[in-house]
Amino acid sequence: MDIIMEKERQTVRHFSHRHALQPCQVKEEDLIFCSCCEVEITVPAYECTKPKCGFHLHQLCFELPKQVRLESHPRHPLTLLPSSPYQNGEFFCNGCGDFGSGFTYHCSVCQFDLHVGCASCPESLKLEQHQHPLMLNTVFPSKKENCAIFLCGLCNRSVEENCWIYYCQACDYGTHLDCAIREEDQEDNPEEIVF
Ligand SMILES: [Zn+2]
Ligand SMILES: [Zn+2]
Ligand SMILES: [Zn+2]
Ligand SMILES: [Zn+2]
Ligand SMILES: [Zn+2]
Ligand SMILES: [Zn+2]
Repeated sequence: MDIIMEKERQTVRHFSHRHALQPCQVKEEDLIFCSCCEVEITVPAYECTKPKCGFHLHQLCFELPKQVRLESHPRHPLTLLPSSPYQNGEFFCNGCGDFGSGFTYHCSVCQFDLHVGCASCPESLKLEQHQHPLMLNTVFPSKKENCAIFLCGLCNRSVEENCWIYYCQACDYGTHLDCAIREEDQEDNPEEIVF
C-alpha cells in the first residue's frame, strides 16, 4: 500500500511486459481489465507507463510466482506465461474448461494450461445447496453406467470430461468450478434466517 501513497512516480518492471509499469488507482467507472487474469480491476493495480498500451495488472497478479508446483499437476512444475503458447492466441483451461487469452500456468510437456484463478482454487468448499463439503477433484469421476454425461448440480449443464469439478463422492454430486465459486461468493453476505 505504501507504494501508492508516495507522490513521486515510481516505476517497476515485470517479466511479462516490455515497458515499465507504474502504480495506478482505478476509478469505479473506468472498467479496466487485468491483462493477467482478465478480471475487472477495482483495487490498487499497476498500469503500463505508455498511455496507449493498455496493459494492467492487479497487484496480486503482479506478485504471482513464475513457477508453481500444484498437487493437481504433480509431475511437472507449471510456468507462468504472459500469453498463450498456442498459435490462435488462446488456451484451453484444463481446470474450468473455458478458453483464456490472459496469462496461463502452462506445462509444455503435457500441453496443460490453467487460468491463474483456476490455479489457486480452494481444495474444498461448502455450498448451501449440498449438505457435505465438496472437494476439488482433478480426476474426473467415473460415470454411472447408464448415464452418458455428468451434470453440474448447480446449473444442470454437462461437465466436460477433461475438466476439474467440485465433487462429493458419497453422493456422486459435482459442480463446475466456476458455478461453485460463483455460489460461494454470493454467500459472503448470507441473510441469517433464525427460527
Ligand atoms: Zn489480475
Ligand atoms: Zn506497455
Ligand atoms: Zn480456468
Ligand atoms: Zn505436465
Ligand atoms: Zn455448472
Ligand atoms: Zn454429498
